[in-house]
Formats: sequence, structure tokens, C-alpha cells
Amino acid sequence: MIKKILKILGIIVLVFIIILIVKALTVSSKQVEVKETIPYKIDIMTVAKHLSEAIQIPTISNQDSLKTDTKPFEQFHTFLAKTYPKLHKTLKKEVVKGYALLYTWKGSDPSLKPILLMAHQDVVPVDAVTLDQWTHPGFSGAIADGYIWGRGALDVKNALISIMESVEYLVNKGFVPKRTIYVAFGHDEEVGGEGAKAIAKLLKDRNVQLEYVLDEGGAIMEGALPGISNPIAMVGIAEKGYLTLKLTVKGTGGHSSMPPHHTALGVLARALVAIEDNPFPREIKGPAQQMFEYVTPHMSFPLKVMFANMWCFKPLLKWQFEKAESSNAIMRTTVALTMTGASEKDNILPTQAWAMINCRILPGETMASTTAYIKKVIDNEAVLIESTPWSNDPSPVSDINAPSFHSIATITRQIDNSIVVAPYLVLGATDSRNYNALTNQIYRFTPVKMNNEDLKRTHGINERISISDMGKSVKFFIALIEKTHQ
Ligand SMILES: [Zn+2]
Repeated sequence: MIKKILKILGIIVLVFIIILIVKALTVSSKQVEVKETIPYKIDIMTVAKHLSEAIQIPTISNQDSLKTDTKPFEQFHTFLAKTYPKLHKTLKKEVVKGYALLYTWKGSDPSLKPILLMAHQDVVPVDAVTLDQWTHPGFSGAIADGYIWGRGALDVKNALISIMESVEYLVNKGFVPKRTIYVAFGHDEEVGGEGAKAIAKLLKDRNVQLEYVLDEGGAIMEGALPGISNPIAMVGIAEKGYLTLKLTVKGTGGHSSMPPHHTALGVLARALVAIEDNPFPREIKGPAQQMFEYVTPHMSFPLKVMFANMWCFKPLLKWQFEKAESSNAIMRTTVALTMTGASEKDNILPTQAWAMINCRILPGETMASTTAYIKKVIDNEAVLIESTPWSNDPSPVSDINAPSFHSIATITRQIDNSIVVAPYLVLGATDSRNYNALTNQIYRFTPVKMNNEDLKRTHGINERISISDMGKSVKFFIALIEKTHQ
């Protein structure tokens, strides 16, 4: 009898394993088949020189806009006008909010919705403590060892110069787009993005509706996911929301020699511990789920078996993802306890204790639902919860079946067909969040290869881009404009 049961069990396990493996073997690729390659001949050394010149102008934005040195921005505008004369002759240029730039390249068919290509002019400063750790100084724009070095090489003067080069190239060729093409460069993305906000408002006031927006956010990542050796073009189709909550507990004050059982700080501390102990539910869904659907066919065994059989392995994957900060952040709303304060003196009871917590909200949830969750977890009326003004809901999720996503995917693979294109959830905030009212299709992607080391260079030491990658980036934008808008 036992033998018989064991036999049946054995057969069930075998069938189960066969199902898993068959499922893994039969997941079909979602990649666009490309035959042709990108034909354009561009002079990459000239492109490199232009990026180098752009880097040498230190367009550093300051959190306090009154403290921003505006001279470099004026210089930057002059540099663009001088370097891209044909573009400036053909496109309409508007300066918005002081230093943000909006170019309009009028299309021949007004019935088609325009597109908007974005980047930002500003960069973060070079940390004075790290000055001597740079191989080439941060604003040198040095061209050496096959790279262009300096602040903005990856974030994001590379995209800005690529867009300008591509338009200049096409204007020079006599190309006229069918769709109107807007090019928008904010001047303060790193410190809040008032420039981009003003441009978005200007277009909205003019009743402009856009086919799609392309901004920074994702890149062509190498070594980003286990079990896949191909570079992955992470095209951001959504970005998380941003919510900072202020928690306040009122106290009685007084001398600390006869304290109550719990001071305002003690009550607040309990609330903070409860928040950390009760993270938001974890879920592989939406953009994260879509990303795995795109990369799974290109994974190696045995990971492919797991990802191809989410119905069975999801709990295990969630448990595994939770361990690393980056994968944890794509499957849940995260909360970071960031600031706190209480009494001014060691022997005075606090009349008030406060803390700031920063939440990054998963698409599908809202600022209201996030606040409600935090309130439930704290479960104490004594803790006052207020939201702060610099907060916003998650973006809507762009459609991966839209022609615009298809164009981006196709051109990326025409440049290098070993690249696997995948939708992606951007964890930070980009200027593109201002455009939610103008289009359903916002993509966040810069066509540049990045490995984990390059990620550290962004806002860090030795920021650089290879000359060859810069050439590919220019070709990407030429193709995107020409092939999809003629
Ligand atoms: Zn940036």
C-alpha cells in the first residue's frame, strides 16, 4: 500500500517538474525581430567634442534658486546656439522660467499629435571632498581613454547633446517631421524641476496633447539582473509616487527629573518602530511583473524555470527579492525614516517630538492610501500625521503595446540586437511627472550602457561616457525622429 502511494507521489512530482520545465522552455521572446541596422554616418569625435564643451560649462543648480549661479546657464544657451546653428534657424526657441528651454520643430501634418523629447541642463556639484579622487577634474570634459569625462556625462548632458546633434543632423539633411517635435530642457531638475513644470504648464495652456514623452529614467543596464547576460534596455513606463509625512506628538514639557512613563519622544519612537516593523505588502505586479515577462525568455536555467512559473514560485521570489534594497523597492511602497527632533536640552521634557518619513509609492496606490496605511500601523491618535507639499501620487503606467514603445524598442535593438528591451518601474522622480495631463505615454529611458559601477559614477566620482556609446545615443535619436515621424 505504502509502495503504491509512494509510486503515485513520485509520478505526481515528476509530472510537476515536467510542467515547470516545459513552461520554461516554451516562454516566447517578446523582443522585436530586427533585420536592418542603423545606417547613419556621424562624426563621433565632433559629437565627443560638443559633449566635452557642454560639460565644461558648470550648470550647477542650487536647492535655493536664488543661490544658483546663472552665468553658466547663459553661457550654455550661447554654446547651444553657436554649436547647433541650423537647428536654431529652423526650430522656434522659447526661454521659460528664466533658463529652461523649449524648442518647437513644426511638423507638416497638424492632425498628428506632437512628441516631446526631454533632458535637463543642470548637474549636481562635484563634492569638494572627492576632488582629488577624479581621474580628470569634474568639469574638465576631458576626452581620454575612449571616454568623455565629467559631471553630466551620464546625467544627463549626454541625452541633451544627443538630441541636439540628431536634430541638427536631420535639419541639415532637409528632413521635415510630419509630427511636431518639442524639445524641452529644464534647468533645475536636480533641485525640484520648476523649469519642466513651467514648460508643461505652457503647453497645457496652449491645449497641446502629446503622442508621447521621452525623458531620462532607465538605461541599458549590464549585470542588473541575475541569470541574464544580455544588456537590458530598461524603459521606464511608470515612476513611483513621492510622499513625505510629518509625524508630531505633543508633550507636557517640564523638568526631566519627574518624567511621565512615556514622553512625547517615547510615543513617537514607538510609532516609528511600528512603521519599520510593518512594511507595506509586497507584490510582484504592474511594471515589475511586465519587466520579468520581457526578460524571462532570455534567462538561463534554473532561474528561468522559476520566473517562467510565477504561479508556483512567486512567494519564494518575493522572499528573495525582499533581501536586496533595489528589488525590494520594485515590489512595495517603501518607507524611510529620515529626520527627527524633540527637546532642545537634555534635561527638559519635550513639548513636542517630530519625525519626517519619506514614502515611495507603488503604482496602483495613492498618497491617501499610503497615509491611511501608516495611520493604521501607528494606531495611536496621539500621533498627528500631516503630509508635506512636495509630494505626488505615482505616475500612471504607460502602455507597452503603444506604437511609441514599439519604436523605442525597435530602434534600441537596431543599434545592438543583443539588447533585451524591458518595461521598467523608475524608483526615483523625473521631470516627466509634470506631463501626466498631456499624454498617456511617458517613457523614461536614455540610450546609454550602464553597469553597476557606472551607476555609482552618476552623482559620484569619475562620471564618464564612452565615445562609442555617445555615438550610438545620437543615432538612436536620429532614428527615433526620422523613422517614426516621416
Ligand atoms: Zn538627471
